[in-house]
Amino acid sequence: MEHASEALPEYVPDCYLCPGNRRVSGAVNPLYTGIFVFDNDHPSLAPEAPGVLDAPPGIYRNSPAQGVCRVICYSPKHNLSPGELAPREIENLIEVWRRQYLELGSRPGINSVLIFENRGEVVGVSNPHPHGQIYATNFVFKVLETELAACQQHYAERGRLLFQEILEAEYRDGRRILFENRTAVAFVPYFARYPYETFVAPKAPHASLATLSDGEAADLAAVLRRLLIAYDNLWRMPFPYVMPLHQAPTDGGDYSWFHFHIEFHPPLRKPNLLKYLAGAELGGGNFMLDVAPEATAAELRSQPEVHYREAARRA
Ligand SMILES: [Zn+2]
Ligand SMILES: [Zn+2]
Repeated sequence: MEHASEALPEYVPDCYLCPGNRRVSGAVNPLYTGIFVFDNDHPSLAPEAPGVLDAPPGIYRNSPAQGVCRVICYSPKHNLSPGELAPREIENLIEVWRRQYLELGSRPGINSVLIFENRGEVVGVSNPHPHGQIYATNFVFKVLETELAACQQHYAERGRLLFQEILEAEYRDGRRILFENRTAVAFVPYFARYPYETFVAPKAPHASLATLSDGEAADLAAVLRRLLIAYDNLWRMPFPYVMPLHQAPTDGGDYSWFHFHIEFHPPLRKPNLLKYLAGAELGGGNFMLDVAPEATAAELRSQPEVHYREAARRA
């Protein structure tokens, strides 16, 4: 089912993300050659969303949700997998993420910038053109809010960063570390909820991409690229995932106790087998895994460093 893109062309005339094409809004994409960012034509959130809501009944509460939604095309090539991006192109992507976080985050009323990628038909994305999204919002999304609360409490109680202690535990054990270089690391967390779930982060405690040095950004790009290649090589197919960047809110607060990271939540257990969220997960709130994180880490770590399509071209 996920093999469809193998035969895709570099350019598709009716793709709303390809260079030079007209989108539903009537806007025409420029003939871009690198990364292209534009405001989503069907935004889930908008600046002009209602600022005053009807009072909810009884004990219910509500509050206005406003924001900016953008799309980031990683490449003009329709059929390119993110794992096929050159090292320099991944570095550019990280730089674009950083600039978008800073630009949108500096706007009044924008308190958080959630950058993410939904990849693959199993997570509802029918267009294989490599792209991600940005939701810059007046509120902080729930998962990040929960993480922030845990990190803040941990810091108050122990005087240490929660994520630093997670990294130390992972280094000490070692079995779930996937790839690392001088300043960046990728690992399957001890607490993984999905098969092949991974985290990617700088080793130093940056609260967001904003404070990364050029060297750290390049190291992060290298580890991220290595992981993307391993994912595609695992089943020799474009590997589906949900990938959020968790960065500090942009509400002006002090988040020096938070450590920026990228998460990958892959929905598949095997090439044609979804990890279904069922009674235990949705009904009970606990995730059941039928594969140990040490085993998925070993599988990912053993993948070749060259993308399988590149290897096929070279052969
Ligand atoms: Zn396209
Ligand atoms: Zn997180």
